[in-house]
This record gives sequence, C-alpha cells and structure tokens, in this order.
Amino acid sequence: MVKAVVGANWGDEGKGKITDMLGKEADIIVRFQGGANAGHTIVNDYGKFALHTLPSGVFYSHTTSVIGNGVALNIPVLFKEIQGIVDQGVPMPKIKVSDRAQMVMSYHILFDQYEEERLGGKSFGSTKSGIAPFYSDKYAKIGFQVSELFMDKDELMDKVTRVCETKNVMLEHLYHKPLLDPEKIYEELMEYKQMVEPYVCDVSLYLWNAIKEGKEILLEGQLGSLKDPDHGIYPMVTSSSTLAAYGAIGAGIPPYEIKQVITVCKAYSSAVGAGAFVSEIFGEEADELRRRGGDGGEYGATTGRPRRMGWFDVVASKYGCRMQGTTDVAFTVLDVLGYLDEIPVCVGYEIDGEVTTEFPTTHLLEKAKPVLETLPGWKCDIRGIRKYEDLPENCRKYIEFIEEKIGFPITMVSNGPGRNDIIYRKK
Ligand code: GDP
Repeated sequence: MVKAVVGANWGDEGKGKITDMLGKEADIIVRFQGGANAGHTIVNDYGKFALHTLPSGVFYSHTTSVIGNGVALNIPVLFKEIQGIVDQGVPMPKIKVSDRAQMVMSYHILFDQYEEERLGGKSFGSTKSGIAPFYSDKYAKIGFQVSELFMDKDELMDKVTRVCETKNVMLEHLYHKPLLDPEKIYEELMEYKQMVEPYVCDVSLYLWNAIKEGKEILLEGQLGSLKDPDHGIYPMVTSSSTLAAYGAIGAGIPPYEIKQVITVCKAYSSAVGAGAFVSEIFGEEADELRRRGGDGGEYGATTGRPRRMGWFDVVASKYGCRMQGTTDVAFTVLDVLGYLDEIPVCVGYEIDGEVTTEFPTTHLLEKAKPVLETLPGWKCDIRGIRKYEDLPENCRKYIEFIEEKIGFPITMVSNGPGRNDIIYRKK
C-alpha cells in the first residue's frame, strides 16, 4: 500500500516527524519532488538531524530510502548527508537513486545566486540551492539525467558543450560573470558518476514490483500545498509540485496506488520567503511564538532564517488539505500553544469588503485581511499525553473547531517532536 505524507501549508509542518513515525511500519520511503532547498528536522533515538535530500526513513535499518525521478538531486549534498548520519552512529542506510532523476549542477546554484542579486529587493527569497534554475533546465530539456552519466564520452561532451553555449550567453550578457568551461562541467559530471553509481536504480520498476509484493511504501513530500507552482501562491512558490498527486509522477507509480494521503497541518502558521501571509503576526507576539515554536524555535532547518509567524489559517489550510486530496490530517506542534490565554484563529479573509472562506488567487490574496475568531487557551503542557480524552477540554475544543472548519478528519495529533509524541483519533 502506498501512503503519502504531505504538507497543507507553507512547509515546516512537521512532515519529517510524521514520516519518521510512520516509517516504523514502512518498507520503502520515497522522496518524489524538491531538492536540498528545504529541510526536515527529526528527533529520534540517535539524536537530532536536519535532512535535506534523504527521506526521513533513513534511520530505520528495515527501510529502503529512495530518491525518485522528480527530485532535484544534488549529489554532493546527498553524500554529505549520508556521511553525516553515519558519523552520528546511524547504520549505513539502503539507498536507491532513480536513473531518471536529474542532477543539480554547480552552475544551477550560481545562477540562483546571480538572479537573486539581479532582482535585489524584488527577489523571491530563494534559498539559493539552485532549485529554480534546475527545474527550468529540466523543462527546457537541457538538464542532465543520472542515466546520461553512462553515455559515451563524445556524446555526453557534445551535450555539455551545447548546454554551456546557452548558459554562457546569459553569464556574459545578463549577469556579467565568469563563463563555464565545458571540460570542467564534464569533470563535475564524472565526479557525480563515481559517487552515485552504486545506488542507481530503475526506481519505477522497483516500486512496481514492491507494490505487487504488498510492501508498505511512504511518499514523503517537501514544503506544502501553498508552495505548489500551480495551486500555490504563484510566483512565491517552489519549482516542483508539492501535491500528493505528483507523488505518482515523481516516484513513477500508478496514481490509483496512493491509497492514503496524510496531510500534515500545523496548529499555528509559519512561512519562509516572500509572499502574502494573511494571518501573519508581528512584534513581541510573533517573537514569542517563534521562540517557543517547533522544537527549539521556528528557524529554517537549511538556512537558519527566522520564520514568519501567524495564527492558524482555516482558509489556507482547508484549501491546502483539499488540494492534497487529504484522507487524514496530522495536526502538529499543538503543545506549543499551551502558553496562550486565548488563541486567535483566522476563519475568513476580507477582500474588498467581502468575507470569503475560499482561498483566492495571488493578486486577491495580497488584498486579504484576516477575520479572526478567538478560542480559549488551555494553559498547560500537553506533552506526554497519549489519549485524546486526557487532553484538556479547551485543547480538544481547539482541535474539533479546526477539524470542523477545514472539513477533513484530524486522525493524528502531534504533541511533541519525538516519535512517540502522538495521539491517534478515530475518523
Ligand atoms: P517539515 O519540513 O515539515 O518536516 O518540518 P520541519 O522539520 O521544518 O519543522 C518541524 C519542526 O517541529 C521540527 O523541529 C520538529 O522536530 C518539530 N516538531 C514536529 N512535530 C512537533 C510537535 O508536535 N511538537 C513540537 N513541539 N515540535 C514538533
């Protein structure tokens, strides 16, 4: 059976923790999109880890970790990450990399930096990991697939030369930066070949056979619905689809095999990068939530940047869950809200004097003002509670209020960063 773990919001919902937790029952965990631009933070018996490319299942010796064709594969980052976890005492994970995955090249990272420099104040707040230039090249059909590392030298060198010609026009005339040398790019590819060769696999066939054998497969999404290039807050989005449906493409499996979509939804909001964020809060109120948020504060796992903070947004989360095709909501970091006397929730958007609960397109979103409703807080620490009935009444009321407003069942409540900090609920 295939299950997807994806985000309802702007990312950083705690997908890593939920995947790590569900990984106990899984045989295979697959990354199907995104790259090393966002990270998952995972706390388990081995320690605390920030993963960027590896799926969150790498800590179990019984699981196989798969990098699907939809991923922006940064090979040096992947290998540093493998080394990092092995150095911290985790057994060497079983890893498979799709022969159809494309590789992030050093020049993708440079182009990302150059473009952000060029845009100055109008930048998208990129993490400068090369993701947008990478996906642009993939769809412009000038990217490099892992399988191409195994071509004849002449053939590959021909392609490298052609790609460098295109890139060098931009480097010379738009960015005024040093040009690419095709020989160097070829060498870079050969270094990647050496690193990746032992792991290369026909992943779609591997997964097809695994499905037929009845294996448990988890698809792990990066970021959340609102960062999807089609359905998110375009253009302040990421460059690959963050939706569970894309799991079929980015892993290479039949769409009808994804039987469960677990959408991770955070009990308050946080976002990184630019773009409209209707329920955003500022000043001391935001600082306090940021300081107390997540596990040790709401700061980027990759960049260390402070995240933008806000109250729970029903409009965005209802939409985010709908776009994922949610069967189950995992409601996370609820424990963090225990300090508040009252908890505001954004229940609608006021746009040009009208209130809506449907998430609008970006130019209308920019005008939206939050309509807030305030719920009483529970004023205690709920970590360690394992049964739903044992949660304080106001805490249950908060969960049930949100479940009713978003219209999807909250079947898991996460009340701490650890694997066992979870409360299951029936639908
Ligand atoms: P992801 O990218 O969706 O996996 O999310 P991140 O890893 O960026 O952010 C989630 C952060 O919250 C991590 O530091 C987790 O350890 C932490 N976390 C996850 N679930 C919970 C929870 O229920 N309570 C608390 N306090 N922290 C959590």
